[in-house]
Parts: sequence; structure tokens; C-alpha cells
Amino acid sequence: MKNKCLSVKDGGNKTPSNHKDNKVDCLFGPVPSRRLGLSLGIDLIPHKTCSFNCIYCECGATTNLTVSRREYVPVRGVTKELGAFLSKKPALDFITFAGSGEPTLHSRIGDIIAVIKDNYPQYKICVLTNGSLFHLKSVRDALMRADKVIPSLDAVSVAAFKKLNRPHSAVNLKRLIKGLEIFGRDYAGNYAVEVFIVPGINDTLDELAELKKALMKIKPSSVQLNSLVRPGTEASIAEASAGKLKKIAAFFAPLEVELAGAPAKKISPAFKDGVDDKIVSAVSRRPLTLIDLAAVTGLRVVELAKIADALRASGRVVLIKHGRKNFIKKAEKKI
Ligand code: SF4
Repeated sequence: MKNKCLSVKDGGNKTPSNHKDNKVDCLFGPVPSRRLGLSLGIDLIPHKTCSFNCIYCECGATTNLTVSRREYVPVRGVTKELGAFLSKKPALDFITFAGSGEPTLHSRIGDIIAVIKDNYPQYKICVLTNGSLFHLKSVRDALMRADKVIPSLDAVSVAAFKKLNRPHSAVNLKRLIKGLEIFGRDYAGNYAVEVFIVPGINDTLDELAELKKALMKIKPSSVQLNSLVRPGTEASIAEASAGKLKKIAAFFAPLEVELAGAPAKKISPAFKDGVDDKIVSAVSRRPLTLIDLAAVTGLRVVELAKIADALRASGRVVLIKHGRKNFIKKAEKKI
């Protein structure tokens, strides 16, 4: 799942599983998403638990590579935290399941989706997933009530798949693609498959031709072409140029292709109070630029620069450079 991950580098401000008192800290944002507008994230998985270890992952390297489905955070805690947040009736474009790993590894994601749909039907739900568990009927069924489901498919050749996504040994690519096909046949919501392009790995003519064939069978509502815009796990990987992405989009015709754009500029009332903590929380999920933060908070870049300087001075965030942009990221905890 993508840059995909609206996610945390060190998981420091999340309490993944305090089953005793059902207290969790699984919400993040709202954050500006390039694809989803203003999105409230729900992170159901402890950092960094995933069935993949993608070279482009914004959340850092996978430390728990697994296909094991569990109730990683207690459902009751998640619904309690959600209820407290949504009772303020925040303006949101989506509530998005994403975060520190693969959300479908949570064995009760379907129950949480049902709680939101039953109690807060005004909110749209999106699930960002790597699709690795879509061969399981229980996983496909769990996502049926989401408004939008965005699985990934970056490669169809096993060699490119392994290079890019570095999956758990139990993940079978053919079975994964078949699962995406079956889900597309049964699901009535908006189904977008994301393809993350990494130059030199999955942008060859052969790979793209095979990918197109598979996508034609999966029949998504759209294909989202994405490339690296934030620092990924492996520093050496390059960003595909806008020109290259446009050419690939044309090659995928007649499939409908969306190119990832700039984040929606919206003001979040949720940022009015305790702005320092909220900025640290937002950048703990994924690195953000001052412009991203301006979109989330409604504050001016110049004001944010001052806050960011103070947060850097106190060691709560660090500045990292990626390409020509500077990103603010939560500082790693020192041991
Ligand atoms: S490693 Fe997991 S969380 Fe990160 S991009 Fe890949 S699928 Fe998403």
C-alpha cells in the first residue's frame, strides 16, 4: 500500500494495544491527502507491521513482516476514540484506514467499518491496502461497506514484485492478482488500483504491458499512477517524472488513469487548539512540508516556519531534505 501509507516513522505517539483499559491512540490528522482531500486517518496496526516491505514506503522499514491477522488494537478502544472525535462533527472528505502498516492485517477491520457506517453515515470511508490478503474471502467481505478501496499493484512479474514490495514469503503474486479481480467483480464502491512507478524497476515496456493486461482483468474504476514525492525507505530510489507518468497513463488507455496531484487546500478546525502537538502528531505519520501543514492547519507558512523552528529546537521534529523539498518529520526517540 502506497505512499499509501499516511504514516508514522517511529510509532512513538500511538498506543497500539493497551487491551486492559481499551485505550488506544489510533487516529491521526486530519491530514491533506493528494488523493483524498482532507482525510482523518485510522491506524490499526503497530508500527511497522506489514506483509510487504516496500522500498518506497514512507513509514520506514517493516520490522514485523507478517501475514498474521490479529486484533492488533482493541476495537472498543478504536470506536471510543472515533466517537469522541466525530462527535465534534469535523468536516472531512474521508476517514481513511492507513498508517503504520497493512490495515487488513487487523482481524476486525470490517467491524470498525460497520460501526462508522451505522453511526456516522455522513462520512465516507476509504481503505488503502496492499491487497496481499485479498485472496481471503473474510478480508474481501470486511471491506464491502467502504466507499472507496485502493489496493496496490505495482508489478506483475515476480522479479519486479519482489524488488519493489519485498513481500512476506507467504504472499503469492498470482493469488493476490486473482483476489483483486474477485473483489472488483463483487464490490459496488469506488475501486481504484494504485500503481507506484519506480524508474528502472517497473517502467519497462514488458512490465507495463503485463500490468495493463492484469488491470484490464481487475477492472478498477480507475488506476492511480503514483511516484515518490516524499522520502521513502530506500534513499536511492528515484521519482518518475511527470512526463513519464503521462506517457504511462496514455499507454494504459482505455483504462481511466488518475495522476496523483497536489493536496487539497482545506482548513481543519481540529487544528485550532494545541497546534504544536497536532503538528508533531501529523508529521509522525508521514513527513510533511510547510505547505502541506498550511493546508492541514489553516495557518500561514510563515507562522508554521516559526512553530517548526521551535519544535526543532526542542528536539521534537527534524528537517529532512528530499529532492528540492524540505520535509518535517517527527524526531526518532533516542535510546
Ligand atoms: S511496506 Fe506496507 S505500509 Fe509501506 S508502502 Fe508497502 S504495503 Fe504500504
